[in-house]
Amino acid sequence: MPPERRPAIVAVDDEPAVLAAVARDLRRGFGERYRILRADSGATALELLTELRTRGDHVALLIADQRMPGMAGTDYLVQARTIVPDAKRVLLTAYADTEAAIAAINDVALDYYLLKPWDPPEEQLFPIVEDLLTTWEAGAALEAGGVRVIGHRFSKDSHDLRDFLARNRVPARWLDVERDGEARELLRVAGVEADRLPVALLEDGAVLERPTILELAERLGVAGQPAQDHYDLVIVGGGPAGLAAAVYGASEGLRTVMVEREAPGGQAGQSSRIENYLGFPTGLSGSDLARRATDQARRLGAELLTVQDVVGLRAEGAGRFVDLSGGGTLSANCVLVASGVSYRQLDAPGFADLTGAGVYYGAAMTEARSCAQQHVVVIGGANSAGQAAVYFADYAGRVTMLVRGPSLERSMSHYLIEQLSTRPNVTVRTETSAAAAEGEDGRLRRLRVRGPGGEEVLEVDACFVFIGASPRTDWLEGVVARDERGFILAGPDVSGDGWPLKRDPFLLETSVPGVFVAGDVRARSIKRVASAVGEGSMAVSLVHQYLVDA
Ligand SMILES: Cc1cc2nc3c(=O)[nH]c(=O)nc-3n(C[C@H](O)[C@H](O)[C@H](O)COP(=O)(O)OP(=O)(O)OC[C@H]3O[C@@H](n4cnc5c(N)ncnc54)[C@H](O)[C@@H]3O)c2cc1C
Repeated sequence: MPPERRPAIVAVDDEPAVLAAVARDLRRGFGERYRILRADSGATALELLTELRTRGDHVALLIADQRMPGMAGTDYLVQARTIVPDAKRVLLTAYADTEAAIAAINDVALDYYLLKPWDPPEEQLFPIVEDLLTTWEAGAALEAGGVRVIGHRFSKDSHDLRDFLARNRVPARWLDVERDGEARELLRVAGVEADRLPVALLEDGAVLERPTILELAERLGVAGQPAQDHYDLVIVGGGPAGLAAAVYGASEGLRTVMVEREAPGGQAGQSSRIENYLGFPTGLSGSDLARRATDQARRLGAELLTVQDVVGLRAEGAGRFVDLSGGGTLSANCVLVASGVSYRQLDAPGFADLTGAGVYYGAAMTEARSCAQQHVVVIGGANSAGQAAVYFADYAGRVTMLVRGPSLERSMSHYLIEQLSTRPNVTVRTETSAAAAEGEDGRLRRLRVRGPGGEEVLEVDACFVFIGASPRTDWLEGVVARDERGFILAGPDVSGDGWPLKRDPFLLETSVPGVFVAGDVRARSIKRVASAVGEGSMAVSLVHQYLVDA
């Protein structure tokens, strides 16, 4: 990479000695990979960032002193966020300012606050900055990457391919055929007709016209193949519960395989910022959590099979058999069902037809960048909707939330309500619901909404729906006892419900001995990342007990 294309780290401090020291240490630790740029005030740094962005240069990290005359570090970082939203943000504080730094975490979406002095840098600075840069690099590599996908922004097939690549962390660059001259040129060179989109151009020169996700996954080697004939533990679902079980199962010596239908991370992987997971005071994005957990599970020896759907479960004697959508079967001593819940679909007119073409379920973070200056509507009043609104506020021109209830207080955490109130481009409309979605040229253009003042039409560019979720456990029909909504019963809830053994079922054991359940799919579970992780970890210890007793 030529030196001038190295991404930048921008340090700001009004005290020349401190600024020089930060720059010196950053240069020593990261100077080979990054340009270290300095500014002596927030205002100068903002000008510098605008210049860098105009030139198309990447900014990886911002580091700013809190105490600066004219503009405090937090105020600077808030403004910088609108210029370089992807850059990691670090605040330099004196011990006396710790409270202010913690209070600023939400407004700034701070990634770290660093106490002055940071000596020795090998312990106090380098590991922290390295971790932040690794996370930034993972995101940047994904966007720069080898696979190129060309398609129409408002095509469901194009959206699904992009989403699949992003969620499976395959480095890929998206080119919109309508906006991008390079896309049209590439299509001409590859000899692809416009009606054959989306197209994926792979690094080995292969051109895949209108590929299915499975085809693309197989060509890219994402899906994986089982390496063993028999496992101690098969985990169904790669959300937080499944990933935790994979980490503990593999680390405790169980032959463990995890099967995931879409991409590791589950619902949590779609969260723009999880703020209440223990040990991450500044929060972490769902994709970061998924990346860390997936790497950890793999490193400890768990196998991961993705883009494969579990479609059946059988118990034959001591054997447990899991059928895969591709036709294969996995044999195991124990199975953990950690298949979570899926978004509920909005059944108002127009929504089904426009899904993927302006209507999205979940945060669909791949769409954020395309929403610049646009009007985004978020439907729902719970935490997931609140997170999405806060997230899109950084990218979109304006964000309107449609909330069916009379207020957010009943359904959303206080910290999110506070964050929404600090985003001037977010409007919350309570007692309002979407009555219909209307499109033009195959993409969403308008929403018909019903509120206290009657029906009204909103011009919109994209709409993200968060109206709850339900388990998809039909494949367990007649095998494992479920409640009337499809959630799986476990432990004390299954006693007497066809339970075949003398001993009581273990706490997370289903009505089939040796088949366990963890996370959101369990009846009466607490729908949180931490509880899913806790149950996934606990399930492994119950698997050990089962194997000892068996
Ligand atoms: C946008 C959003 C934001 C959230 N923010 C927070 C937050 O800030 N804090 C918090 O504590 N909680 C948050 N939650 C809730 C939290 O994400 C969930 O409680 C948690 O992810 C549940 O984990 P799980 O592993 O049980 O299930 P899931 O996360 O639902 O994962 C289940 C996985 O199983 C896969 N799967 C399903 N069926 C099959 C099958 N048959 N074969 C193969 N794979 C299958 C799915 O594709 C999925 O990846 C949020 C949820 C959402 C949607």
